[in-house]
Amino acid sequence: MGKVIIIGAGGVASVAAHKVAQNSDVFTEIMIASRTESKCRTLADAIESKGLVPKGSIRTARVDADNVEELVALFNSFRPDICMNLALPYQDLTIMEACLQAGVNYLDTANYEPKDEAHFEYSWQWAFKDRFEKAGLCAILGCGFDPGVTSIYTAYAAKHHFDEIQYLDIVDCNAGDHHKAFATNFNPEINIREITQKGLYWQDGKWVETEPLEIHQPLNYPEIGPKESYLLHHEEIESLVKNYPTIKRARFWMTFGEQYLKHLEVIQNIGMSRIDEIEYQAEAADGSGPVKVKIVPLQFLKAVLPNPQELGENYEGQTSIGCRIRGLRDGKEHTYYVYNNCSHRAAYEETGMQGVSYTTGVPAMIGALMFMKGLWKQPGVWNVEEFDPDPFMDELNKQGLPWHEIHDGDLEL
Ligand code: NDP
Repeated sequence: MGKVIIIGAGGVASVAAHKVAQNSDVFTEIMIASRTESKCRTLADAIESKGLVPKGSIRTARVDADNVEELVALFNSFRPDICMNLALPYQDLTIMEACLQAGVNYLDTANYEPKDEAHFEYSWQWAFKDRFEKAGLCAILGCGFDPGVTSIYTAYAAKHHFDEIQYLDIVDCNAGDHHKAFATNFNPEINIREITQKGLYWQDGKWVETEPLEIHQPLNYPEIGPKESYLLHHEEIESLVKNYPTIKRARFWMTFGEQYLKHLEVIQNIGMSRIDEIEYQAEAADGSGPVKVKIVPLQFLKAVLPNPQELGENYEGQTSIGCRIRGLRDGKEHTYYVYNNCSHRAAYEETGMQGVSYTTGVPAMIGALMFMKGLWKQPGVWNVEEFDPDPFMDELNKQGLPWHEIHDGDLEL
C-alpha cells in the first residue's frame, strides 16, 4: 500500500522495523535511516534473515536528523508516504519541517524537547497544525505506549463506556528484572531527564506542581501485585485534559524499585544528571597532549550505562501499563481499568528487544498502519486520542499487545 521511512535504529526503531516487516502487505517498501548507517544495516539484515521480507529489500541510509536539508534530500530520493520518527525528541521539529518541505506524512512517539532544557509540552509541535493542514499532510503525535496506547485507551473509554470521564490515572509498572545494578529501559539521557523533573498533575482546571517523586503510594498491578508508584509529569496528560475537558483530575504514575531510586539519587547528588555543558580536560586524539573539551555530564553518563538495547537477553518479568478511569454513565458513577501486560522474554524472542522498546515500537507501527489504510489520515497535527480508537484497539490484539478490561473494580486511587 505504501512506502515507509523509519528514522532511528535504536531499541524502539528495532521493534517497529520488525513489525513493519511483519506487515509487508501494507508497508510495501521500507527504508531505515539514522546517524550511524551500520546500525541500520545490522537491523535490516536481522529482519531479512528471519525471512520477514526478501533479502536486500530493506534500504538503509545515513542521515543527520538535526539537519533539515539532509532530511529533505533523503525524502526526495526515497519518496516515502510516511516518516516514522523513532530518533530522539530533539529531532521532532527538524523532521516535521523536512516532512512539510518534501510532502511526507509524519508520526512520532515523544514530544519535542529542547536539548538544553528538560521541558515537556506540545506547543512547539501544535504550532505546525496550519502548515500540515494546508499541505494536506497528516502528523500523528505521541504514538508509542505512553503517550500513545494510554491516550487511545482513554478515547476508547470515552467512546464506549462513559458519558463523562472525570478522573484519569495512567499507571505504568515495569516489574521486570534485567539483573543489572542500574540501567534505564530506553535512551538513558531522555529517561533521566524525564524522571528528575518536578511532578505535575491536573486538578480542577489547573496544573499542580510537586517536588520530583514527592507523591507516591503502592498500587496493585494485575499478575504482579503491589508496587510503589510515583507521580510524574507525563506529556499525554496535557493533550488529554484539552481533548476531554470534563476531566477533573488527571495524573500519571510510574513504579520504581528502591535500588533504582538509590542510584538515581547518587547520580543527581554527584552532578551526573546535569544537562548543561562543562569543560573537561581530555587527551588529544593525536597524542599531542591535554585539550579542553565541552561535555554534558548526562550524555557522558549515557555512554557508560548499559545500552537499553542489550538488556533483553536476561530480562525477566513483565510490564503492566493502563488507564484507571472514574466517570459517569447514565447519571451513575462507574470505574474502568484497561491495561496490557507485556512479557520482556516474549518481546525479546520476537524482536531481540526488551518489553519497554516493544510496547513503544508496536503502537508506532500500528499508527503508521492506520495511516496507510486511510483510517487515520486527515490533514493537520493530531494527538492520537483525536482519531477513532476502534481500529487501533483491534490491531493491538492482533499485533502482540492484547488488552484487558475490569469494569467497576476498585481503582485504589
Ligand atoms: P535509542 O537511543 O535506542 O535510539 C535513538 C536512535 O536515534 C539511535 O539509533 C540514534 O542513532 C538515532 N539518532 C539520534 N540522534 C540522531 C540524529 N541527529 N540523526 C539521526 N539519528 C539520530 O532510543 P530509544 O529507541 O530507546 O527511543 C526512541 C524514541 O522513543 C525516543 O524519542 C523516546 O523518547 C521514545 N520513547 C517513547 C515511549 C512511549 O511510550 N511513547 C517509551 C520509550 C521511548 P545512534 O545509534 O547513532 O546513536
